[in-house]
Parts: sequence; structure tokens; C-alpha cells
Amino acid sequence: MAIKLKRMWPEYNLNSSYDAVIIGGGIHGCATAYYLAKDQGMKNIAVIEKNCIGYGGSGRNTAIVRANQRTQSNLRLHKEGIELWPQLTCELDFNLMFNQSGHLSLAHSEATIGAFRINVSSAQLSGVDCKFIDAEECRELVPALSLSRDITHPVCGGIYSPPGGVLRHDAVIWGLARGASSHGVHIHQGVEVTGIDVVDHKIQGVTTSKGKIKTPKVIVAGGAYSVQLAEMIGIKLPIHPLTIQAMVTQPLKPFLNLALSSGAYDIYITQTLKGEIATGAHMDEAPNFTSSVTSICLKHQAQMLTELLPCMKGARFMRIWGGLADMAPDMAPIIFGNDEIEGFFFNGAWGYYGFKSGPIVGKYMAQFVATDVTPHHLEQFTNKRFARFRYTGERAVPAQIGPWN
Ligand SMILES: Cc1cc2nc3c(=O)[nH]c(=O)nc-3n(C[C@H](O)[C@H](O)[C@H](O)COP(=O)(O)OP(=O)(O)OC[C@H]3O[C@@H](n4cnc5c(N)ncnc54)[C@H](O)[C@@H]3O)c2cc1C
Repeated sequence: MAIKLKRMWPEYNLNSSYDAVIIGGGIHGCATAYYLAKDQGMKNIAVIEKNCIGYGGSGRNTAIVRANQRTQSNLRLHKEGIELWPQLTCELDFNLMFNQSGHLSLAHSEATIGAFRINVSSAQLSGVDCKFIDAEECRELVPALSLSRDITHPVCGGIYSPPGGVLRHDAVIWGLARGASSHGVHIHQGVEVTGIDVVDHKIQGVTTSKGKIKTPKVIVAGGAYSVQLAEMIGIKLPIHPLTIQAMVTQPLKPFLNLALSSGAYDIYITQTLKGEIATGAHMDEAPNFTSSVTSICLKHQAQMLTELLPCMKGARFMRIWGGLADMAPDMAPIIFGNDEIEGFFFNGAWGYYGFKSGPIVGKYMAQFVATDVTPHHLEQFTNKRFARFRYTGERAVPAQIGPWN
């Protein structure tokens, strides 16, 4: 019997004008479109995506979510973000496969324990459920974890945060796109924005591979390409695209029921519902626009995985892929709007952590675009922070990741 496939959302011809045009059909673009149409009552909106929905980082990430960030404002934003997932699953009527299994970040030195204790105190102050646990308690959560003193970075403890977990990234992006479409948003795939039209510091529209569109509001959510989109109208931002790689092993018997990460080993690990171990973290050091994979990364992950989880010895990698991370020097996003150019909004530099924040930031971006007033939670991410030398503090020392340093 032939199965009749139903489209997730209808296709429309490109209109000659929209009330708002969102560039980029990733999690940030689709979430902004969804909340603009659902919460802010703007219906005449287009999402313009040059490839297909979820082609960028949003369809390539390992979908780990957590709320235990460093800074107070970021903590509150991500706490709200975590709480949004179950609500979104119901609202979108789409199984986002939210597995709230918890998140364990390992410490391997006295210095990291000190830093983790500060993180835990800040997180608890913001009402984020997390605590510092010792090495034995880490092993209670992950019985396969090695506590050997003979490995490169012996485990000393960790931050355990029960609200963290993983989702299914494709489900999230398709659910949001379908949700936006059901509220009237036009989703245009295979259309590239090639220019942003500005007259007298005011947005007039965009030029695309399929013609011009008039609009008073443009929202850039182009992931690694956002920096080039901003440059189209002369805005230079300190964002550098770097490749991140991720991979999965063959399916194994379930043995890991939380998201495990280690800064010293430069690794994060989850076990999918199918039993595969999904792992990644290694980032290319030099800025580039490729999403190539390398044997160096495979070797690194294999060595680190088998040191931390010796039961992984002999497991085979099945697939490896790469994606781009758009990094700012302080490892925090850059969000601004309606500044030098009326009607121009920017949401980018989400690096390797922008999946977890997609829906909650989309909700606040929608409010920002509809009201032209920056929501309190987004104020800290202004691009003006660089000129004022006020980094966000999400990373203790500004990262040396670009040639501007
Ligand atoms: C391997 C990997 C693992 C990751 N793991 C995690 C994780 O575990 N947790 C987490 O929170 N984050 C993770 N991330 C980061 C996360 O995926 C990204 O931060 C997030 O997806 C960025 O979403 P976005 O919507 O801003 O951009 P994208 O998803 O990159 O979407 C941007 C879209 O814009 C389109 N576009 C660009 N230019 C144009 C143009 N001119 N015209 C039209 N369309 C255009 C692109 O085709 C693209 O589809 C990971 C990323 C990678 C690569």
C-alpha cells in the first residue's frame, strides 16, 4: 500500500512585501517567527532560508540543554529556556523527545573545583537546580565512569544539574517551522538573501535570489553567515565561524542516562534512545567556513571516550559530521536591534550553545521586534559591549579565537 506523505507546511510564492523578513531557517529564525505570529499577532512574516529548514547548526547539533550557565542574567534566561521545552511540546503538538535526564559536568583539578563552586552558588541563587558532587557520587550517576588516578585527567567531582538533558534537534526545528506556518508565517526554502536594502538609515527590504521583497523589519538569524549578512549594510561584528565536529558510535546497551561533559577532556557524551553514543566538542582553532571532518577529531574523541568510559573500548564510530559555530570573543551571543539602522535586528554568535536557547530567545526576539524595546534578558548581549570593553563574563577570560585579538 502506497503511503501518502503529507507536507509539514504549505509552500507559497514569494510575496512582494512582508511586515517582517527573517533571514535563516534555523532554530533561532523559526522560533522568532513562531512567537512573532503566535504571541505578537504579526502574521505577514517570511522566513527566508537559502538551503532547507535546519540545514545549519540547528540540524547538526547534539541537542544538549542545560541551565547552569555562569552569569546571573544568562542563568535566568536559560532557566526559563529549560522550563519552556515541555510547554512547547504540548503547544506544537509535536514530540520533541525531551529526555530530561540531567547534566553532569566533570572537574579534574582543584582549580576547576573552585570555579565550579562559584558556578553552583550563582546557579542556586538564580533558582537553578544544581549541586557540586564528589567523584564517588559522579560514579553513582555514571557507573561506567573511570575513577582511576592513572588517566590523563583524573575525575575530582562535578556539577550535577538535574534539569538538563537532550532533545531531538530535527523534531524541534520541524515543530517550530510547522507551528510558525500554522500561524500564517510563509516559509521559503531554497531562497538566498543577497542584499539588505537601506535608505536613510531605515530598512526598506531585502534582495533575494528570487527577487526583491519590501519590508520595514529584517531579522538576521543566519548562524555562521550572520556576520556576512550584517556586513552587507556595513555593520562589522567580532564573530568568527569555526567548525565543530560530532559523531555517533554503533548502538550499545544502555549505560549512560545523562548528558556528561568534561572541559579538560574537551568532550561531551550522551547515549541516544537507539543506544548510540553521541559525542563531540573539538572545535577547529582557525576560523573557516568548511564543515569538513578530520581524523584528528575522531582519534581525539576515541582516546578521551575510552579513558573516561573504559567500557567503550572496541566500540565503532558509525557516522561523523561537522557544522559551523559562530563565536564571539567572550563566548556569548550578540543581539541588538533598531540601533543605527531602524528596523534591523540581529541575533547571532550562538557558537556551540545556541540550540538550548533557541525557543526562549525566539520568544524574547519576537517581543523585541514587535515592540522595538529590548527585553531585559537580551540587553546584556548588545554589540556595544565590545566598544565599552564590557564582556559578558560567561567565560572568565575572553577567548582568543579570532585574528582581532
Ligand atoms: C556539531 C555541533 C554540535 C552542537 N551541539 C550543541 C548542543 O549540544 N547544545 C547547544 O545548545 N548547541 C549546540 N550547537 C550549537 C547550535 O547548533 C547552534 O548554536 C544553533 O543551532 C544556531 O542556530 P541558528 O538558528 O542561529 O543558526 P543555524 O541553525 O545555523 O541557521 C542559520 C540558517 O541561515 C541560513 N542562511 C544563512 N545565510 C543565509 C542567506 N543569505 N539567505 C538565506 N538563508 C541564509 C543557513 O542556511 C542556515 O540554515 C552545536 C553545533 C554544532 C555544529
